[in-house]
Amino acid sequence: MTPPVGGATEIAARVRAGELSAASVLDEALAAIEARDRELHCFNSLMGERARERATEIDRMVGAGQDPGSLAGVPVALKDNICTRAAPTTCSSRILEGWTPPYDATVVRRLAAAGALLVGKTNLDEFAMGSSTENSATGPTRNPWDTSRVPGGSSGGSAAAVAAGMVPVALGSDTGGSIRQPAALCGVVGVKPTYGVVSRYGLVAFASSLDQIGPFALTVADAAAVLEAIAGHDEMDSTSLERAAPRCSEVLDDGADGLRVGVVSDFLADASPDCASAVRSAAEVLAAAGAKVDDVALPELLHGLSAYYLIAPAEASSNLARYDGVRYGLRVDAPDVETMNARTRAAGFGAEVKRRVMLGTYVLSAGYYDAYYAQAQRVRTIVARAFARAYGHFDVLLAPTTPSVAFAFGAKTDDPLEMYLADLFTIPTNLAGHPAMSVPFALGEAGLPVGVQVLAPALGEREMFRAAAVVEAGAPPGVRGPVGTRSAR
Ligand code: GLN
Repeated sequence: MTPPVGGATEIAARVRAGELSAASVLDEALAAIEARDRELHCFNSLMGERARERATEIDRMVGAGQDPGSLAGVPVALKDNICTRAAPTTCSSRILEGWTPPYDATVVRRLAAAGALLVGKTNLDEFAMGSSTENSATGPTRNPWDTSRVPGGSSGGSAAAVAAGMVPVALGSDTGGSIRQPAALCGVVGVKPTYGVVSRYGLVAFASSLDQIGPFALTVADAAAVLEAIAGHDEMDSTSLERAAPRCSEVLDDGADGLRVGVVSDFLADASPDCASAVRSAAEVLAAAGAKVDDVALPELLHGLSAYYLIAPAEASSNLARYDGVRYGLRVDAPDVETMNARTRAAGFGAEVKRRVMLGTYVLSAGYYDAYYAQAQRVRTIVARAFARAYGHFDVLLAPTTPSVAFAFGAKTDDPLEMYLADLFTIPTNLAGHPAMSVPFALGEAGLPVGVQVLAPALGEREMFRAAAVVEAGAPPGVRGPVGTRSAR
C-alpha cells in the first residue's frame, strides 16, 4: 500500500490556501494508521476524536479568512513520554498504567497553537531507555522497511510512524540518541536541538542534564518547520534558553559554499562499511557544493559512551524515585508503605529500567561516587573540550549516525552492552549539549536506510540545517520514507 500522507510544509500550505481540508488530511492519516498499525505497532493510543474537532475548527478558520498557523492541518504523533491531557501518558511502562496527565506539555500547546492535529502517542523503550523499542511494556514496534527488524529506539514508534507515512511528522526525545538513531534506521530526518532550545515542560524526565525534545520528519524542510513551531523560551522550564526559536527554514537554500565541514574520522573505523561510506559520499556532496571538507581526529568522543552510562543512570535513578505507588498509576498494595513501594516498583518497572536504577544508585553511593560518577563528569568535560577544539576550525561536523543499519529483533537483547553501543556516535552530542541531526542518505546492507549525522556547536542549528539541506539534496532517490510495509529481505 502506498503511504497517502504528503509532507508537512506542503500540507500546511495547501490547508492554509483552502485547497485541502484539514479534515481530509486527518482522515487519510487515521486510515493509514488503521491499515498498518496492527502490524507495526507505532501507537500506544490515539486521540482521533480530539484531532477531528481541531480539524473542523481549522477548516472553519480558513473558511472565515483566518490563518490557523504554520502547521495548519498537519497530523503529528507524540512520543508517549510527552504529557497530554487528551490521552494517557504511559512511557510504555506498566508503572504509569491508568495515568493521564493533568496538563499538556509546552510542545503540545505550541503544536496545537500552530494548527497541528495531534493524532496519537507513540511507542518507546520504557522511559526512553533503549535503542530498539524492544524494552516497551506494550510490545515492540516494527521497522516498516523490514518488519523482522527493529525501528531503533527509544523513539521507535515516532520514527516508524513517519517512515510508514502514517503521519508526516512526529516528536521524540533524545537523551543519548533516541531521535537520531531511530531516524537513521527508519530512513527519516531526526533532529536533536541544542539543550535548552525546546522546552521540556511536560516531558517525563529520564536524565535531566541530557534530555531534549525534537522532531522527526520526511524532509529537512519539514523538520525545520516543526522545530520553529516548538522551540523558543518557556518560563515553565528553568533550563529553557531565553532565545527565540532558531529560524532554520530561511537558510535551507543557502548552499554549502564556504562552509567548513569536519569529518569525524575516529567514528568511521567503528561503523559498518555501508555507514562509513555514506559519510564519505555525503562529504563529497558538500565539497562539490563548495564546502571546505577535512578529516578531524576526535578520539575523546569515543569515551562518551562510558561516561553516559554512568551519568544517565545516576540521573534516572533520582528521576524515577517518584514512581512510588502513591503519586502515579500502578499500586501493588501491601501492609506497610515501604513494602507497597517495593512491590509496586518490582511489578511496574521492566528489566532495563531496574538495571538503570540499580546502576545509578550504585554509582552515586558513598565510596563509589568519586570513582564512577565524578570521573564520568570529568570525561564529560573532556568530550565537550574535544568538540570545542573541532569547532575552532569547523562550522559543522559529519559522522555516521549509527554503527549499522536496522538489526533483527532479539539480536542485542541478551547483551545490554551491545545494545548500548548502538548509540556510540550520538551520545557525545548530548554530553556536550549540542545540536545534531540525522539525514537519510543511502541504502546499505539488505537495502536498508543509512543516515548521515550532521553535528554543530551549541546554537549552531542554522549551519546544521544548511549542511543537512545540501546533504539531503545530494542523496540518491529511494533512501527515505515513506515506504510501504515490507517483510524480511
Ligand atoms: N539508547 C540510549 C539509552 O538507552 C539513549 C536513549 C535516549 O536517548 N533516550 O539510554
